[in-house]
Amino acid sequence: MQKQHIAMYDELIDKLRKNQELSKDEYLILIQNRKKCSDYLFKNSTEVREKVYGKDIYIRGLIEFTNYCKNDCLYCGIRRSNKCAERYRLDKEEILNSACQGYNLGFRTFVMQGGEDGYYTDEILVDIIKSIKEKYPDCAITLSLGERSFESYKKLKEAGADRYLLRHETASKSHYEKLHPKEMSFDNRVNCLKNLKKLGYQVGAGFMVGSPFQTEENLADELIFLKKLKPQMVGIGPFIPHKDTPFKNENAGSVELTLFMLGLIRLTLPNVLLPATTALGTIDPLGREKGIKAGANVLMPNLSPVGVRKKYMLYDNKICTGDEAAQCVECLKNRIAKTGCKIVVSRGDYKEN
Ligand code: SAH
Repeated sequence: MQKQHIAMYDELIDKLRKNQELSKDEYLILIQNRKKCSDYLFKNSTEVREKVYGKDIYIRGLIEFTNYCKNDCLYCGIRRSNKCAERYRLDKEEILNSACQGYNLGFRTFVMQGGEDGYYTDEILVDIIKSIKEKYPDCAITLSLGERSFESYKKLKEAGADRYLLRHETASKSHYEKLHPKEMSFDNRVNCLKNLKKLGYQVGAGFMVGSPFQTEENLADELIFLKKLKPQMVGIGPFIPHKDTPFKNENAGSVELTLFMLGLIRLTLPNVLLPATTALGTIDPLGREKGIKAGANVLMPNLSPVGVRKKYMLYDNKICTGDEAAQCVECLKNRIAKTGCKIVVSRGDYKEN
């Protein structure tokens, strides 16, 4: 009986491997029985990653340029109601300095991430994007600035932005409403993702694993949602409570469930760019290495000036907030070498096939 069951889970994984679609119920069976089939999943997910991207791991230099935010997401440490957060903004020169340091360390993608900060108008952002592109024409720019209008996304794309990360946070509207205040809208967030795709960005969606009220059924829905949206990137990481938010007493998401979801995402979208995130490295000292071994192929170390790093605290105990970028890159190179993969100097674009 036991063996028959295990054979059934492996068959579902084989089905995914052959690029056949799974139903929500089939995904749910795998998620519920993950302990019995995770080894087989990871064997397949790493093989698929290697088939598409070889042993190359892409690095993205993350520039966290503002922690001002007009939103009040219940889970996030830089939510507007958090009066304990010490706010900062980087100016153009500081952003360009971070990019310069990153370029010299081998980064060929810069990710500008921040809260939804009205200070950065289209005009200011267009100027910064153009300046980075002018100086580093061989680099890609990824933006992660939250929800903006179609026109705004269009201007930023025309200025030279290549990619956009906007996690949908959860694929379930009712779950979304438990994680966000009333004035925020699931439909608008998904609409933003569609607009970004229309404009030709390489688009990244994503969600937190183990966020409050999340069920295993929600996680099965994530995979159905992703299969339909077909984003080029998917960012997932465990939810981690932040001490100055309404979710301060909630449990963090687990490493093993995050890894299992990474494996399923790799098989569902074989070519996807999939980071082993800082949050995963925060709840487990070997989290990022384990993420790579589950099928991830991207790392996003911090390039922000050390002086502001502790202020971009989305969750408690975030790692690498005291290290210089050069230290982070050295450390990651050593860690990744132990997984049998290697960090490469490359823009690391999405491979169509
Ligand atoms: N303002 C941008 C960037 C948000 S920060 C935007 O709206 O896209 C990047 C990601 O950090 C968020 O999308 C969220 O998924 C994650 N995050 C925020 N708070 C977190 C927490 N407490 N634990 C884990 N991840 C968190």
